[in-house]
Amino acid sequence: TFPTLASDFYAFESQLAEHEQRELVRLRTFLETEVKPVVNDYWDRAEFPRQILPGLHAQQVFGNLWEETKAGDFSAVYSGWTALELARVDASVATYVGVQNGLAMGSIGVAGSPEQRAEWLPKLKTGEVIGAFGLTEPLSGSDSAQGLRTTATRDGDHWVLNGAKRWIGNATWSDITIIWAKSTEDGQVKGFIVPTSTPGYTATKIERKQALRIVQNADIVLEDVRVPESHRLQNANSFRDTAAVLRLTRAEVAWAAVGTAIGAYEAAVDYATRREQFGKPIASHQLVQDLLSRSLGNITASIALCTRVSQMLDQGVQRDEHASLAKAFATTAMRETVALCREALGGNGIVLDYDVARFHADAEALYSYEGTREMNSLIVGRAITGVGAFV
Ligand code: FAD
Repeated sequence: TFPTLASDFYAFESQLAEHEQRELVRLRTFLETEVKPVVNDYWDRAEFPRQILPGLHAQQVFGNLWEETKAGDFSAVYSGWTALELARVDASVATYVGVQNGLAMGSIGVAGSPEQRAEWLPKLKTGEVIGAFGLTEPLSGSDSAQGLRTTATRDGDHWVLNGAKRWIGNATWSDITIIWAKSTEDGQVKGFIVPTSTPGYTATKIERKQALRIVQNADIVLEDVRVPESHRLQNANSFRDTAAVLRLTRAEVAWAAVGTAIGAYEAAVDYATRREQFGKPIASHQLVQDLLSRSLGNITASIALCTRVSQMLDQGVQRDEHASLAKAFATTAMRETVALCREALGGNGIVLDYDVARFHADAEALYSYEGTREMNSLIVGRAITGVGAFV
């Protein structure tokens, strides 16, 4: 038997295959020994602890979905659990993996040709190549399906990219960035694998961020960036293909939201048993128990939802609206949970050293990225009513 988390109240993890549980315990041990001790300092300094990368990439976390990189039979539910375990220790480190494994490898896995997949997926899996995903722009966030201003113009056997991107995770130090741009030929959104050393490409770190401070987000400027046709994602023909990548990653963000809530919850339980007021541990006061009980309810309901949405991916029946509902629900439940847990710590809930302040701040970014709650609700609303209400 494997040690399950006390915060996994209904023991969902025990439903995983034995080899999957073994890998999760290995990941959890790595995160608790190598990552947890350093994250608050790096968060404070807004720097990424790059020394953890070799150990992180040695875990069974990257490339489980793709033939070129999978090392055995790992389910989508298992992949979800890895996102949960990562975020339970730090949501920024989970976001690094979400970008590398989900958005960058996902773009190439979903929309790359066999040659592109063979060339890039193994290097991204090991971390030899760091990837980023550039969709959002300074003037286009929620409306990126129709509002992209970055252009791709065909010039012989090359494409010339011009425009700007904002918020791009890992992009201050990525080797390649997937750039989504509108073709001036057919007006459709296409994806390009852009080596960041290409002339005309610049990335500048977004400073003074108050959430996910460990993740490095960048503003990107593209000025006559020339990439060969062989770097165009061969199966990305419209925004529909971009959306196929986002469907995969939104479900993973839902799992990461549960992990973020669990991180705050476990810190709150620990604190409540040690902190004394009115002559006894605050954990023995009824209203504090209520904070913890409501938190565990949110966490348990979210794990159930996430488990099912990943099973649907394994069964090949997951649709955009399924992932969107999971993302919208789990991030909303997370947002309430981290606030309840912060409350349980009183004043210490806003001090970094007690961890909850970091989870509380980071939750705000998870709530808004990969489609805000409103946008994911509109995707679900379209499925319910048959009417798109975006514009
Ligand atoms: P806006 O689109 O300006 O929205 C502002 C508000 O208006 C929101 O509440 C939104 O829900 C609401 N709104 C907009 N339109 C409607 C409507 N039709 N109906 C109802 N409400 C509406 N992007 C990438 O491409 N790559 C990345 O790696 C990446 N990483 C990120 C990391 C972080 C930490 C953050 C904060 C963002 C990241 N993003 C990334 C961008 C992210 O996906 C966008 O922030 C998100 O899509 C929202 O866009 P926006 O911030 O421009 O907000």
